[in-house]
Amino acid sequence: MQNGQGNNRDMISVYNPVDGSLVGTVQAGTAHDVDEAVRETGDAFLSWSRTDPPERSKILFSAAGRIRADQKNLATLLTREQGKPLKESMNEIAGFARVLEYYASISGMLRGDYGVSRQYGHMMVRREPIGVCAAIIPWNLPALIMSWKIGPVLASGNTMVLKPSSTAPLTCLALVGHLYEAGLPPSVVRIVTGSGDEVGEALARHQDIRALSFTGAVRTGIRVAEIAAPTLKKTILELGGSDAMIVCQDADPDLAAKGAVSGRFFNCGQTCTAIKRVFVDKKISDQFIRRVCEYAGALKVGNGLEKGVDMGPVHTMSQRDALHSQVEETITREMATVLCGGTLPDSSSCMGSFYHPTILTDVDPDAPVMNNEVFGPVLPISTFDSLEEAITRANATRYGLGASIWTHDMRIISKATEELKAGIVWVNQHLRIPPEVPFGGTKFSGIGRENGRYALEQYLEEKTILIQP
Ligand code: NDP
Repeated sequence: MQNGQGNNRDMISVYNPVDGSLVGTVQAGTAHDVDEAVRETGDAFLSWSRTDPPERSKILFSAAGRIRADQKNLATLLTREQGKPLKESMNEIAGFARVLEYYASISGMLRGDYGVSRQYGHMMVRREPIGVCAAIIPWNLPALIMSWKIGPVLASGNTMVLKPSSTAPLTCLALVGHLYEAGLPPSVVRIVTGSGDEVGEALARHQDIRALSFTGAVRTGIRVAEIAAPTLKKTILELGGSDAMIVCQDADPDLAAKGAVSGRFFNCGQTCTAIKRVFVDKKISDQFIRRVCEYAGALKVGNGLEKGVDMGPVHTMSQRDALHSQVEETITREMATVLCGGTLPDSSSCMGSFYHPTILTDVDPDAPVMNNEVFGPVLPISTFDSLEEAITRANATRYGLGASIWTHDMRIISKATEELKAGIVWVNQHLRIPPEVPFGGTKFSGIGRENGRYALEQYLEEKTILIQP
């Protein structure tokens, strides 16, 4: 059976990408369900926004504890509906708990401002929660991305209606159950499952939602922003990326190769800030590419619930086929050399939407895999002669989410961190994001930031109060 969305009028079926078996069903919500959820969360806003921050924190800490205690069950569900290896799901669930704990720990630090003037008297700035917020999230890291939305919204005293992806909604529902059990009034967060066209657009269009945080593809983000514009809600967009990794002559080729393989093949390559293009100095390229092929070749691909599996299937069959078309076109037009992978597994022996780890070299800058986001386990590697050339090519994309530079030379680090056009620049690492720092992109990778106190501030508005005694 094809995995992906199998809907009847009222229900959406969720399938396991490993074999197409049914994992569960959820309601196909409607615009009417969105109206109801917004009304409920609007009513709950009055009391939640006035709940003392330490009280709010207590619930978030308690929910995080429950989620940690139930980590294995939640991770198993995530692997079954999404496809990623259990060890990655375990980390993602722990990540959800960690983000809740982080926001619980800083919610008491929300402060306004105060000054005094002879002319105007007492000048106060209150920072107030803005109201009902909405979130629309994708399937690739459903738990982690849900925490990035729900953590700052709840800690700052707002309420939320959240729409999960239709192909991976079950873990989100299980997680919110833990929040309710920890004491969160159910009307503070409502999840509405359903299609993007129906539920997603109803959220974007709704007059009474004051902020909307969307994570997903660029074209969907543009559509959401267009629909949301007439309501003047604050719109935060976390979109795609085509992160470059630049490996300099002085980099340790072994460490860099390990970094390239984990930065590309983690989550079967389906991460917005995965390494999507590698540029390596010609002087070390042979050594580096040999190691990358060794490490990628050693990855065990299979059912994420089986021991020792490093990479699961692509999330749906249609996404796997779209990925393969990008690779096929690049190969047919002789725009790259295939070092490994690049073919579909034999469908008679394999039911799932698997794809072999694929490494391409001698990649033409105009190849489809260099110009469109590659959302799967395919790594294009190019060589460069000078740092200027590497930075120019890294920036030659409409995306600007992340980038990394691998070197220990401070002059190179200083130049690259200044000149790379990205929301986050790593040095000698990639794809690692603690909850304390802002995360988001520039150019077509999005507007606004998640994570850290920066995200919290996006859900607060300043009110100026001038008191003449
Ligand atoms: P989509 O944009 O297809 O879907 C994301 C969410 O939007 C889903 O919940 C989807 O619902 C919903 N949606 C779809 N159509 C509409 C619509 N017309 N109006 C409102 N909502 C809609 O993205 P993918 O799920 O394919 O996710 C992959 C993309 O997300 C990649 O480009 C990736 O780079 C990006 N991403 C960005 C991140 C970041 O932080 N910058 C992090 C992770 C991913 P439904 O499932 O029902 O279709």
